[in-house]
Amino acid sequence: MSSLAVLHASQLVTLAGPKRPRVGTELSSLGIIFNGGMLVRDGKIESVGPSDEIEKNVGDADIMDARGSVVMPGFVDAHTHLVFAGNRLEDFERRSRGETYEQIAKAGGGIWSTVEKTRAASERDLLAQAKKHANWFLGCGTTTVEAKSGYGLTVEDELKILRVLRQLREEVPLEIVPTFLGAHAVPRNLSPDEYLDLVITEMLPRVTAEELAEFCDVFCERGYFDIDQSRKILSEAKKLGLSLRGHVDQLTNSGGAKLMAEMDATAADHLEQTDQQGIAALKKANVQPVLLPGSVYALGSSRYPRAREMIEAGLAVVLATDFNPGSSPTPSMPMILSLACTQMKMSPAEAITASTVNAAYNLNRGDKIGSLEPGKLANFVIFDCQDYRELAYWFGMPITHSLYVTGQRVVEL
Ligand SMILES: [Zn+2]
Repeated sequence: MSSLAVLHASQLVTLAGPKRPRVGTELSSLGIIFNGGMLVRDGKIESVGPSDEIEKNVGDADIMDARGSVVMPGFVDAHTHLVFAGNRLEDFERRSRGETYEQIAKAGGGIWSTVEKTRAASERDLLAQAKKHANWFLGCGTTTVEAKSGYGLTVEDELKILRVLRQLREEVPLEIVPTFLGAHAVPRNLSPDEYLDLVITEMLPRVTAEELAEFCDVFCERGYFDIDQSRKILSEAKKLGLSLRGHVDQLTNSGGAKLMAEMDATAADHLEQTDQQGIAALKKANVQPVLLPGSVYALGSSRYPRAREMIEAGLAVVLATDFNPGSSPTPSMPMILSLACTQMKMSPAEAITASTVNAAYNLNRGDKIGSLEPGKLANFVIFDCQDYRELAYWFGMPITHSLYVTGQRVVEL
């Protein structure tokens, strides 16, 4: 039996509350214990409370004195593209010169350039780069990420990416939730319908037979997969037992939110263009919106999703990084909190709920992670600040002090 007592947190941000995603004013309720403490046994949280109460039951536990810092659950990042080769520095520089997406794609950039590099990379090289990315997430205070395929676009290359994710799980303490996103783009040598057929008849059965993914995702957008094609892929994935999520209404309002509601999906991601009707459809079907302000920011756009309207409509909002080389090259959830507060007018407390407990439920792990409550895994982070609001307030600087996964310290800065 290994045990650990965390003592003297200025704020132990527990997020204790109902055993479901938080909505409305619940998003503002962080369950903070001032001068808080926590007892961890065998990787799980045994008790939380005032530090002096916890101290009485310490026994032979190791002591971690938080010395007046904030202690909270590790961030749960519900939308990342963690595995890819290379980067998109050329695109980045072109965009900074004011070039459009079409001009950049013509010059050999865009998603296709990442597909080519990822196809050319060996499983070993992809794993090495993915490990680097995983360590960035841990360093920013994240203990669980969803991670997608989608830069392979052939049967073998999509499987390669998902196998890299499976291997990565063995090699890093970051918890990884794999998602199949074969329908990320249409490869150049196939028509949309030919590729759709490949995704449905070959990729999905292989992915599920090898148990390589928990979710199926689709990029539902003009020029990628339209509503009908997206519906076909998601219906097939559902039959095979996968949970559903989708990139919808990012660049155009094509009715993607409504499709996710119709499909009874777990998540509808992006939603920059979603209108009131889309929000109402999500509410009716209880689909969680996953908002990705990092990609709006990095693309130099100002069209953020309507977070306030979504919260007021009673949706259990989630925030994620959308970490990817093209449109959101950041693994930093504190940066996302800053954007959520300054650009989408969420409060710091709402942003923290959206990036911890609500995200945990969104990844079907609400019973294990996302809050500091007895029985849950001791995945927590100590931040070098005294007040949780500082996480969203200071921006562009590292603030992680140390990070624990199942009670073991894995990062110390
Ligand atoms: Zn994405």
